[in-house]
Amino acid sequence: MIASETKRLERHNASADERAIAHGACGQKHLPTGRGCIRVVNHSGSCDFRSADEMKAVADGHAQPLPG
Ligand SMILES: [Zn+2]
Repeated sequence: MIASETKRLERHNASADERAIAHGACGQKHLPTGRGCIRVVNHSGSCDFRSADEMKAVADGHAQPLPG
């Protein structure tokens, strides 16, 4: 079924990095690029997707989420 396949992909696209979230970051992931948002959780405006390396630094607690 094409419909169920589409729904599955949408849920996958909405994934977030739980470890980055645990450090206070938004954590939304942009799966086509592998980038993630490292702004603070509940930030204003749109997500600021950064490289996987920057996302990992926040997830590991080595960097602070970006203010805003
Ligand atoms: Zn965000």
